[in-house]
Amino acid sequence: MLSFWESKSWIENNDYTIVGGGLVGIQCAIHLKLKMPSSEVLVIERGVLPSGASTKNAGFACFGSIGELESDRRSMGEDYIQSLIMERYEGLQYLKESLGEQEIDFEKTGGVELFTSKEQAHLTNCKMMIPFYNNVMKNALNINDCFSLDKIDFGSNLLSSAIKNNEEGAINTGRMMITLIKKAYTLGVKFLWSTFIKSYTKGDKQSFIIEASNDLCIHTDHLLFTTNAFTKSLITNIEVEPFRNQVIVTRPISNLSLNGTYHMKNGYVYFRNVGNRILLGGGRHKFMKDEATTEIETSEQVILWLKSFLKQYIHQEEVEIEYAWSGILAGGNDKSPIIKKIDENLYVGVRLGGMGIAIGSLVGKRLADLVISN
Ligand SMILES: Cc1cc2nc3c(=O)[nH]c(=O)nc-3n(C[C@H](O)[C@H](O)[C@H](O)COP(=O)(O)OP(=O)(O)OC[C@H]3O[C@@H](n4cnc5c(N)ncnc54)[C@H](O)[C@@H]3O)c2cc1C
Repeated sequence: MLSFWESKSWIENNDYTIVGGGLVGIQCAIHLKLKMPSSEVLVIERGVLPSGASTKNAGFACFGSIGELESDRRSMGEDYIQSLIMERYEGLQYLKESLGEQEIDFEKTGGVELFTSKEQAHLTNCKMMIPFYNNVMKNALNINDCFSLDKIDFGSNLLSSAIKNNEEGAINTGRMMITLIKKAYTLGVKFLWSTFIKSYTKGDKQSFIIEASNDLCIHTDHLLFTTNAFTKSLITNIEVEPFRNQVIVTRPISNLSLNGTYHMKNGYVYFRNVGNRILLGGGRHKFMKDEATTEIETSEQVILWLKSFLKQYIHQEEVEIEYAWSGILAGGNDKSPIIKKIDENLYVGVRLGGMGIAIGSLVGKRLADLVISN
């Protein structure tokens, strides 16, 4: 049974309740508190820790390799690609400014796209597009020579060529989320962890009653969903599809020469060093049907595939895998997030895909701005 204090502080008096304690939800809460310090802002998260993508990701501070951008340019057009790059780049700047580069261990390593000896046609096209993408960066952001050819000094001889995005880098995902949560608490954002939202109904005067686990009935004037890939179970008519990504991390490797962030297969496979370990993730292009799920579990087939990829391309010697996990991202018809009002005092900020570190903070801020402007 709740005490008077618990009821008054967490349950009955909330101006804004955000469901989903990932990067978007917490940045949104921070922005609401910055703009309206006296308002009561509550974040509700089903996990003991954020349990979707924000603490599960690979920590690439990236905004696009040419291979991946090219496949989007072909389907969505040049204007779309330019605005996508700008949005991701500006999003990364905003993340670094709002939390501090040191606090998130940002390292400007560059992001390298690798091509195998069997991908010569793809490589030729990507090389040909370097001037185009450098022009985009120059015209839109005044950045010179963002993309350049690079050399490969690790891995097997199946890796033949590399193109580097010199503006990308790596962060420490855990530090990013800890810094974010600390900032939110400092501003007076309230949290309910390990609390699963089952449903919501409209109460009096356009307010909401939220039914949660542990028999909680939480009251709020405004309800915001930042539940990303898990949104469909709460809001049915929304165009959000879940997809899982699995990740492995090796034991420490002495004299590891790999240093930086790397992508292959149009971003479907990615790896980096974390100190003297290798983190490798992805492979979803090989298991599309099975990975279209919200189940946060690893599967033997994907982990085996990742291990074999590690040995074939990145590190030939036997190395033990010390960590393996999965997280869930969101996709849909296009790569843009959905930030919108869906009813009176009811909002969503969802559908963040593989570059959510870049755009997540901006999505949270834009969602807060939308709520405030209404
Ligand atoms: C394995 C992996 C690797 C990735 N690597 C990168 C990368 O290197 N670079 C990059 O830019 N992006 C990467 N991403 C993507 C990035 O992490 C996401 O786009 C971003 O974190 C999405 O943030 P979010 O806040 O929208 O969603 P989430 O972090 O998923 O937050 C949504 C939250 O809502 C909660 N929730 C859902 N339903 C309920 C409910 N009913 N009640 C209460 N709470 C609920 C969930 O538990 C979750 O914590 C990766 C993602 C994964 C999974």
